[in-house]
Amino acid sequence: MTPIEQIKQHIEKATSANGLTENESAVLTTPFAVHQAELSVSLSGESVSLPAYRVQFNNARGPYKGGIRFHQDAHLHEVEALAAAMAVKCAVLDIPLGGAKGGVQFNPKMASKVELEQISRSYAEAMSDVFGVDHDIPAPDVYTNPQIMSWMLDAYEKKVGRSEPGMITGKPLALGGSHGRDTATAQGGVYLLQEYLTLHGDGSVNTVAIQGFGNAGANAAKLLHELGFTIVAVSDSSGTLYAPQGLDPYAIERGKKDTGSVAGTYQSVDGDAARGIEQDGVEILPPDAVLTLSCDILIPAALDNVITDKNANAVQASLILELANNPITPEADRILTQKGVTVLPDVLANAGGVVVSYFEWVQNRQHHYWELFEVQSRLKDKISNAFVHLHDVAREHQMTYRDAAYLVGVGRIAEAMHLRGCFDG
Ligand code: GLU
Repeated sequence: MTPIEQIKQHIEKATSANGLTENESAVLTTPFAVHQAELSVSLSGESVSLPAYRVQFNNARGPYKGGIRFHQDAHLHEVEALAAAMAVKCAVLDIPLGGAKGGVQFNPKMASKVELEQISRSYAEAMSDVFGVDHDIPAPDVYTNPQIMSWMLDAYEKKVGRSEPGMITGKPLALGGSHGRDTATAQGGVYLLQEYLTLHGDGSVNTVAIQGFGNAGANAAKLLHELGFTIVAVSDSSGTLYAPQGLDPYAIERGKKDTGSVAGTYQSVDGDAARGIEQDGVEILPPDAVLTLSCDILIPAALDNVITDKNANAVQASLILELANNPITPEADRILTQKGVTVLPDVLANAGGVVVSYFEWVQNRQHHYWELFEVQSRLKDKISNAFVHLHDVAREHQMTYRDAAYLVGVGRIAEAMHLRGCFDG
Protein backbone atom coordinates (compact mmCIF):
# COMPACT_ATOMS: atom_id res chain seq x y z
CA MET A 1 0.00 0.00 0.00
CA THR A 2 1.39 3.44 -0.92
CA PRO A 3 1.52 6.18 1.75
CA ILE A 4 -1.43 8.02 0.20
CA GLU A 5 -3.52 4.81 0.13
CA GLN A 6 -2.73 4.32 3.81
CA ILE A 7 -3.82 7.83 4.80
CA LYS A 8 -6.91 7.60 2.60
CA GLN A 9 -7.85 4.40 4.42
CA HIS A 10 -7.62 6.21 7.78
CA ILE A 11 -9.67 9.16 6.45
CA GLU A 12 -12.30 6.92 4.85
CA LYS A 13 -12.73 4.96 8.09
CA ALA A 14 -13.31 8.27 9.86
CA THR A 15 -15.70 9.62 7.20
CA SER A 16 -17.94 6.56 7.52
CA ALA A 17 -17.79 6.77 11.34
CA ASN A 18 -18.75 10.45 11.00
CA GLY A 19 -21.74 9.47 8.82
CA LEU A 20 -20.48 11.27 5.70
CA THR A 21 -21.60 10.32 2.20
CA GLU A 22 -19.37 8.68 -0.39
CA ASN A 23 -19.16 11.98 -2.31
CA GLU A 24 -18.16 13.88 0.82
CA SER A 25 -15.57 11.23 1.57
CA ALA A 26 -14.18 11.58 -1.98
CA VAL A 27 -13.84 15.37 -1.52
CA LEU A 28 -12.04 14.86 1.81
CA THR A 29 -9.52 12.41 0.33
CA THR A 30 -8.63 14.57 -2.69
CA PRO A 31 -6.06 17.39 -2.52
CA PHE A 32 -7.42 20.84 -3.37
CA ALA A 33 -4.32 21.71 -5.45
CA VAL A 34 -1.06 20.09 -6.55
CA HIS A 35 1.83 22.30 -7.68
CA GLN A 36 4.87 20.86 -9.42
CA ALA A 37 8.09 22.39 -10.73
CA GLU A 38 11.47 21.33 -12.06
CA LEU A 39 14.33 23.15 -10.33
CA SER A 40 17.35 23.73 -12.61
CA VAL A 41 20.21 23.71 -10.12
CA SER A 42 23.63 22.26 -9.47
CA LEU A 43 24.09 19.09 -7.38
CA SER A 44 27.50 17.54 -6.66
CA GLY A 45 28.87 20.04 -9.17
CA GLU A 46 26.61 18.89 -12.04
CA SER A 47 23.67 20.72 -13.63
CA VAL A 48 20.48 18.83 -12.81
CA SER A 49 16.74 19.26 -12.85
CA LEU A 50 15.06 18.34 -9.54
CA PRO A 51 11.34 17.49 -9.22
CA ALA A 52 9.68 19.78 -6.67
CA TYR A 53 6.19 19.63 -5.19
CA ARG A 54 3.72 21.50 -3.03
CA VAL A 55 0.49 19.68 -2.30
CA GLN A 56 -2.26 21.83 -0.79
CA PHE A 57 -4.60 19.27 0.69
CA ASN A 58 -7.38 21.15 2.46
CA ASN A 59 -7.83 24.75 3.68
CA ALA A 60 -11.40 24.64 5.02
CA ARG A 61 -10.18 25.43 8.57
CA GLY A 62 -7.53 28.03 7.65
CA PRO A 63 -4.51 28.70 5.42
CA TYR A 64 -2.55 25.68 4.21
CA LYS A 65 0.27 24.67 6.59
CA GLY A 66 3.04 22.11 6.47
CA GLY A 67 6.74 21.50 6.07
CA ILE A 68 9.05 20.99 3.11
CA ARG A 69 11.26 17.92 2.96
CA PHE A 70 14.46 17.42 1.02
CA HIS A 71 14.76 13.69 0.39
CA GLN A 72 15.36 11.23 -2.45
CA ASP A 73 12.00 9.56 -1.66
CA ALA A 74 10.02 12.83 -1.61
CA HIS A 75 7.91 11.86 -4.63
CA LEU A 76 4.44 13.18 -5.30
CA HIS A 77 2.47 10.38 -3.58
CA GLU A 78 4.51 10.64 -0.42
CA VAL A 79 4.12 14.44 -0.30
CA GLU A 80 0.37 14.08 -0.92
CA ALA A 81 0.03 11.62 1.99
CA LEU A 82 1.98 13.91 4.29
CA ALA A 83 -0.18 16.87 3.23
CA ALA A 84 -3.36 14.96 4.09
CA ALA A 85 -1.92 14.03 7.50
CA MET A 86 -1.09 17.73 8.12
CA ALA A 87 -4.74 18.71 7.58
CA VAL A 88 -5.84 16.09 10.11
CA LYS A 89 -3.05 17.05 12.55
CA CYS A 90 -4.00 20.75 12.60
CA ALA A 91 -7.66 19.81 13.12
CA VAL A 92 -6.84 17.36 15.95
CA LEU A 93 -4.91 20.12 17.73
CA ASP A 94 -7.73 22.54 16.93
CA ILE A 95 -5.46 25.20 15.40
CA PRO A 96 -7.00 27.35 12.64
CA LEU A 97 -4.88 26.03 9.78
CA GLY A 98 -5.29 23.60 6.90
CA GLY A 99 -2.87 21.00 5.59
CA ALA A 100 -0.12 21.04 2.96
CA LYS A 101 3.32 19.57 2.37
CA GLY A 102 6.23 20.24 0.05
CA GLY A 103 9.18 18.28 -1.17
CA VAL A 104 12.21 18.40 -3.40
CA GLN A 105 13.31 14.98 -4.60
CA PHE A 106 17.09 14.64 -4.18
CA ASN A 107 19.65 13.38 -1.69
CA PRO A 108 20.58 16.43 0.43
CA LYS A 109 23.73 14.66 1.68
CA MET A 110 25.14 15.08 -1.87
CA ALA A 111 24.68 18.87 -1.85
CA SER A 112 27.26 21.44 -0.76
CA LYS A 113 26.10 24.40 1.34
CA VAL A 114 26.11 26.64 -1.74
CA GLU A 115 24.02 24.09 -3.66
CA LEU A 116 21.55 23.75 -0.76
CA GLU A 117 21.09 27.51 -0.76
CA GLN A 118 20.49 27.53 -4.52
CA ILE A 119 17.94 24.67 -4.26
CA SER A 120 16.14 26.40 -1.36
CA ARG A 121 15.95 29.76 -3.17
CA SER A 122 14.90 28.14 -6.40
CA TYR A 123 12.08 26.21 -4.64
CA ALA A 124 10.76 29.35 -2.87
CA GLU A 125 10.81 31.30 -6.16
CA ALA A 126 9.05 28.50 -8.06
CA MET A 127 6.31 28.33 -5.39
CA SER A 128 6.11 32.08 -4.61
CA ASP A 129 2.65 32.37 -6.20
CA VAL A 130 1.20 29.66 -3.99
CA PHE A 131 2.85 30.65 -0.69
CA GLY A 132 1.75 33.60 1.46
CA VAL A 133 1.00 34.50 5.08
CA ASP A 134 -2.76 34.20 4.47
CA HIS A 135 -2.54 31.41 1.95
CA ASP A 136 0.08 28.70 2.49
CA ILE A 137 2.80 28.73 5.16
CA PRO A 138 5.68 26.24 4.80
CA ALA A 139 8.08 25.10 7.55
CA PRO A 140 10.95 22.66 8.15
CA ASP A 141 10.57 18.90 7.77
CA VAL A 142 13.01 16.05 7.05
CA TYR A 143 16.48 17.48 6.16
CA THR A 144 15.32 21.12 6.15
CA ASN A 145 16.14 23.54 8.96
CA PRO A 146 16.06 27.22 10.11
CA GLN A 147 18.88 28.21 7.72
CA ILE A 148 16.91 26.80 4.78
CA MET A 149 13.79 28.67 5.99
CA SER A 150 15.89 31.88 6.04
CA TRP A 151 17.00 31.45 2.41
CA MET A 152 13.42 30.67 1.37
CA LEU A 153 12.05 33.72 3.21
CA ASP A 154 14.67 35.94 1.57
CA ALA A 155 14.02 34.56 -1.94
CA TYR A 156 10.24 34.89 -1.47
CA GLU A 157 10.39 38.45 -0.10
CA LYS A 158 12.71 39.54 -2.94
CA LYS A 159 10.29 38.07 -5.46
CA VAL A 160 7.12 39.63 -3.99
CA GLY A 161 8.87 42.88 -3.00
CA ARG A 162 7.63 43.20 0.58
CA SER A 163 8.43 42.03 4.10
CA GLU A 164 6.27 39.03 5.04
CA PRO A 165 7.96 37.01 7.81
CA GLY A 166 4.77 35.06 8.61
CA MET A 167 4.85 33.38 5.17
CA ILE A 168 7.17 30.69 6.59
CA THR A 169 7.78 29.26 10.08
CA GLY A 170 10.69 27.52 11.78
CA LYS A 171 12.82 30.61 11.14
CA PRO A 172 15.79 31.53 13.35
CA LEU A 173 14.95 33.97 16.19
CA ALA A 174 16.79 36.80 14.39
CA LEU A 175 14.33 36.62 11.47
CA GLY A 176 11.14 36.44 13.53
CA GLY A 177 11.28 32.83 14.69
CA SER A 178 9.69 31.69 17.94
CA HIS A 179 11.36 30.62 21.14
CA GLY A 180 10.89 26.89 21.54
CA ARG A 181 10.30 26.10 17.84
CA ASP A 182 13.61 24.21 17.48
CA THR A 183 12.70 21.70 20.20
CA ALA A 184 8.91 21.84 19.72
CA THR A 185 8.34 18.46 18.03
CA ALA A 186 10.18 16.57 20.75
CA GLN A 187 8.77 18.75 23.53
CA GLY A 188 5.19 18.17 22.35
CA GLY A 189 5.82 14.41 22.27
CA VAL A 190 7.29 14.47 25.78
CA TYR A 191 4.32 16.45 27.15
CA LEU A 192 2.03 13.87 25.58
CA LEU A 193 3.98 10.99 27.09
CA GLN A 194 3.79 12.60 30.53
CA GLU A 195 0.01 13.12 30.17
CA TYR A 196 -0.46 9.54 29.09
CA LEU A 197 1.65 8.09 31.90
CA THR A 198 -0.05 10.29 34.51
CA LEU A 199 -3.46 9.17 33.32
CA HIS A 200 -2.46 5.52 33.33
CA GLY A 201 -0.60 5.86 36.64
CA ASP A 202 2.22 3.58 35.54
CA GLY A 203 5.42 4.65 37.28
CA SER A 204 7.32 1.53 36.19
CA VAL A 205 7.59 2.67 32.55
CA ASN A 206 11.15 3.90 32.22
CA THR A 207 13.29 2.54 29.38
CA VAL A 208 13.25 4.22 25.96
CA ALA A 209 14.57 3.30 22.49
CA ILE A 210 14.66 6.04 19.85
CA GLN A 211 15.00 5.53 16.10
CA GLY A 212 16.55 8.60 14.45
CA PHE A 213 18.89 11.17 15.97
CA GLY A 214 17.90 14.29 14.03
CA ASN A 215 16.01 17.26 15.48
CA ALA A 216 13.10 15.22 16.90
CA GLY A 217 15.01 12.13 18.06
CA ALA A 218 18.00 13.88 19.65
CA ASN A 219 15.87 16.45 21.48
CA ALA A 220 13.49 13.75 22.73
CA ALA A 221 16.49 11.76 24.02
CA LYS A 222 17.83 14.79 25.91
CA LEU A 223 14.45 15.86 27.34
CA LEU A 224 13.59 12.32 28.52
CA HIS A 225 17.10 11.81 29.96
CA GLU A 226 16.63 15.04 31.98
CA LEU A 227 13.29 13.71 33.26
CA GLY A 228 14.95 10.54 34.56
CA PHE A 229 14.01 8.09 31.79
CA THR A 230 16.72 5.60 30.78
CA ILE A 231 17.62 5.90 27.10
CA VAL A 232 18.63 2.31 26.31
CA ALA A 233 19.03 2.72 22.54
CA VAL A 234 19.37 5.38 19.86
CA SER A 235 20.01 4.90 16.16
CA ASP A 236 20.58 6.59 12.83
CA SER A 237 21.31 5.16 9.38
CA SER A 238 24.84 4.19 10.59
CA GLY A 239 23.64 1.83 13.32
CA THR A 240 22.03 1.40 16.72
CA LEU A 241 23.78 2.14 20.02
CA TYR A 242 22.40 -0.11 22.75
CA ALA A 243 23.20 0.01 26.46
CA PRO A 244 20.69 -1.56 28.88
CA GLN A 245 22.00 0.59 31.76
CA GLY A 246 21.47 3.79 29.75
CA LEU A 247 23.19 6.07 27.23
CA ASP A 248 24.22 9.70 27.62
CA PRO A 249 22.43 11.56 24.77
CA TYR A 250 24.66 14.64 25.20
CA ALA A 251 27.81 12.56 24.56
CA ILE A 252 26.16 10.98 21.51
CA GLU A 253 25.11 14.38 20.20
CA ARG A 254 28.73 15.54 20.43
CA GLY A 255 29.88 12.27 18.81
CA LYS A 256 27.44 12.66 15.93
CA LYS A 257 28.47 16.29 15.43
CA ASP A 258 32.17 15.35 15.30
CA THR A 259 31.90 12.16 13.23
CA GLY A 260 28.62 12.44 11.30
CA SER A 261 26.96 9.41 12.91
CA VAL A 262 25.82 8.06 16.28
CA ALA A 263 28.01 4.96 15.84
CA GLY A 264 30.95 7.33 15.26
CA THR A 265 30.74 8.26 18.96
CA TYR A 266 32.37 4.89 19.67
CA GLN A 267 34.62 4.63 16.59
CA SER A 268 37.92 6.45 16.33
CA VAL A 269 37.98 8.97 13.47
CA ASP A 270 41.23 10.34 11.98
CA GLY A 271 43.12 8.83 14.92
CA ASP A 272 41.01 10.76 17.48
CA ALA A 273 40.17 8.67 20.51
CA ALA A 274 36.60 7.38 20.55
CA ARG A 275 34.53 7.04 23.73
CA GLY A 276 35.20 3.78 25.52
CA ILE A 277 32.68 1.28 24.24
CA GLU A 278 33.38 -1.20 27.03
CA GLN A 279 33.45 1.38 29.84
CA ASP A 280 30.05 2.65 28.72
CA GLY A 281 28.72 -0.90 28.21
CA VAL A 282 27.59 -0.09 24.68
CA GLU A 283 26.89 -2.47 21.81
CA ILE A 284 26.74 -1.30 18.18
CA LEU A 285 23.93 -3.08 16.29
CA PRO A 286 22.41 -2.68 12.79
CA PRO A 287 20.20 0.42 12.25
CA ASP A 288 16.84 -1.44 12.39
CA ALA A 289 17.71 -3.34 15.59
CA VAL A 290 16.51 -0.34 17.59
CA LEU A 291 12.87 -1.18 16.76
CA THR A 292 12.82 -4.61 18.39
CA LEU A 293 15.06 -4.22 21.45
CA SER A 294 13.77 -4.72 24.97
CA CYS A 295 12.33 -1.39 26.24
CA ASP A 296 9.12 0.13 27.61
CA ILE A 297 8.73 2.99 25.13
CA LEU A 298 9.70 2.95 21.44
CA ILE A 299 10.00 6.29 19.65
CA PRO A 300 10.28 6.12 15.85
CA ALA A 301 11.63 9.58 15.01
CA ALA A 302 12.95 9.12 11.47
CA LEU A 303 11.08 8.11 8.33
CA ASP A 304 7.78 6.47 7.38
CA ASN A 305 6.83 2.77 7.16
CA VAL A 306 9.60 1.43 9.42
CA ILE A 307 7.32 -0.83 11.48
CA THR A 308 5.67 -3.27 9.07
CA ASP A 309 4.01 -6.70 9.15
CA LYS A 310 7.58 -8.10 8.96
CA ASN A 311 8.84 -6.74 12.30
CA ALA A 312 5.71 -5.68 14.26
CA ASN A 313 5.52 -9.02 16.06
CA ALA A 314 9.08 -8.58 17.31
CA VAL A 315 8.42 -5.16 18.88
CA GLN A 316 8.94 -5.49 22.65
CA ALA A 317 7.83 -2.02 23.78
CA SER A 318 4.36 -1.66 25.30
CA LEU A 319 4.03 1.97 24.20
CA ILE A 320 4.98 3.65 20.90
CA LEU A 321 5.25 7.43 20.53
CA GLU A 322 5.23 8.33 16.81
CA LEU A 323 7.53 11.34 16.47
CA ALA A 324 8.03 10.51 12.76
CA ASN A 325 5.16 10.88 10.30
CA ASN A 326 3.52 7.61 9.31
CA PRO A 327 6.14 5.18 10.78
CA ILE A 328 3.70 2.23 11.17
CA THR A 329 1.96 0.53 8.23
CA PRO A 330 -1.78 -0.32 8.67
CA GLU A 331 -0.98 -4.07 8.77
CA ALA A 332 1.59 -3.47 11.51
CA ASP A 333 -0.91 -1.26 13.35
CA ARG A 334 -3.35 -4.18 13.47
CA ILE A 335 -0.66 -6.56 14.75
CA LEU A 336 0.40 -4.10 17.46
CA THR A 337 -3.20 -3.53 18.57
CA GLN A 338 -3.72 -7.30 18.85
CA LYS A 339 -0.53 -7.56 20.92
CA GLY A 340 -1.87 -4.87 23.26
CA VAL A 341 0.74 -2.24 22.32
CA THR A 342 -0.55 1.32 22.75
CA VAL A 343 0.34 3.70 19.90
CA LEU A 344 0.30 7.47 20.48
CA PRO A 345 -0.24 8.46 16.82
CA ASP A 346 1.79 10.92 14.74
CA VAL A 347 -1.10 13.36 14.21
CA LEU A 348 -0.96 14.04 17.96
CA ALA A 349 2.51 12.84 19.05
CA ASN A 350 4.56 14.99 16.65
CA ALA A 351 2.14 17.93 16.49
CA GLY A 352 4.33 20.07 18.78
CA GLY A 353 6.18 21.29 15.68
CA VAL A 354 3.17 22.67 13.89
CA VAL A 355 1.62 23.99 17.12
CA VAL A 356 4.68 26.16 17.78
CA SER A 357 4.75 27.05 14.06
CA TYR A 358 1.21 28.33 14.59
CA PHE A 359 2.45 30.34 17.61
CA GLU A 360 5.28 31.73 15.45
CA TRP A 361 2.77 32.77 12.77
CA VAL A 362 0.57 34.45 15.42
CA GLN A 363 3.60 36.33 16.83
CA ASN A 364 4.69 37.44 13.33
CA ARG A 365 1.21 38.78 12.62
CA GLN A 366 1.06 40.63 15.95
CA HIS A 367 4.68 41.88 15.78
CA HIS A 368 4.79 40.89 19.42
CA TYR A 369 7.03 38.10 20.70
CA TRP A 370 6.54 35.69 23.58
CA GLU A 371 9.02 34.37 26.14
CA LEU A 372 9.97 30.68 26.09
CA PHE A 373 7.86 29.88 29.17
CA GLU A 374 4.74 31.32 27.46
CA VAL A 375 5.36 29.20 24.35
CA GLN A 376 5.93 26.07 26.43
CA SER A 377 2.91 26.51 28.67
CA ARG A 378 0.64 27.16 25.68
CA LEU A 379 2.09 24.11 23.90
CA LYS A 380 1.52 21.95 26.99
CA ASP A 381 -2.11 23.12 27.18
CA LYS A 382 -2.73 22.40 23.49
CA ILE A 383 -1.27 18.88 23.69
CA SER A 384 -2.98 18.09 26.96
CA ASN A 385 -6.43 19.31 25.82
CA ALA A 386 -6.16 17.35 22.58
CA PHE A 387 -5.06 14.19 24.41
CA VAL A 388 -7.80 14.37 27.06
CA HIS A 389 -10.41 14.74 24.32
CA LEU A 390 -9.00 11.86 22.24
CA HIS A 391 -8.78 9.69 25.33
CA ASP A 392 -12.51 10.22 26.00
CA VAL A 393 -13.40 9.54 22.34
CA ALA A 394 -11.24 6.39 22.26
CA ARG A 395 -12.85 5.10 25.45
CA GLU A 396 -16.40 5.94 24.36
CA HIS A 397 -16.03 4.23 20.98
CA GLN A 398 -13.64 1.46 22.12
CA MET A 399 -11.09 2.41 19.48
CA THR A 400 -7.35 3.10 19.21
CA TYR A 401 -5.95 6.60 19.72
CA ARG A 402 -5.20 6.73 15.97
CA ASP A 403 -8.81 5.96 15.02
CA ALA A 404 -10.00 8.49 17.62
CA ALA A 405 -7.64 11.14 16.23
CA TYR A 406 -8.87 10.63 12.66
CA LEU A 407 -12.50 10.56 13.84
CA VAL A 408 -12.05 13.93 15.58
CA GLY A 409 -9.77 15.56 12.97
CA VAL A 410 -11.77 14.50 9.92
CA GLY A 411 -15.01 15.40 11.75
CA ARG A 412 -13.75 18.96 12.33
CA ILE A 413 -12.63 19.38 8.71
CA ALA A 414 -15.99 18.03 7.50
CA GLU A 415 -17.85 20.47 9.77
CA ALA A 416 -15.91 23.40 8.24
CA MET A 417 -16.60 22.07 4.73
CA HIS A 418 -20.35 21.78 5.50
CA LEU A 419 -20.53 25.28 6.95
CA ARG A 420 -18.79 26.70 3.85
CA GLY A 421 -21.17 24.79 1.57
CA CYS A 422 -18.20 22.98 0.02
CA PHE A 423 -20.09 19.67 -0.03
CA ASP A 424 -23.06 21.18 -1.89
CA GLY A 425 -23.57 20.52 -5.56
N1 GLU B 1 7.08 19.29 9.37
C1 GLU B 1 6.40 19.33 10.64
C2 GLU B 1 5.25 18.34 10.65
O1 GLU B 1 5.25 17.36 9.93
C3 GLU B 1 6.02 20.75 11.03
C4 GLU B 1 5.10 21.44 10.08
C5 GLU B 1 4.90 22.93 10.37
O2 GLU B 1 5.46 23.41 11.34
O3 GLU B 1 4.15 23.54 9.62
O4 GLU B 1 4.33 18.45 11.42
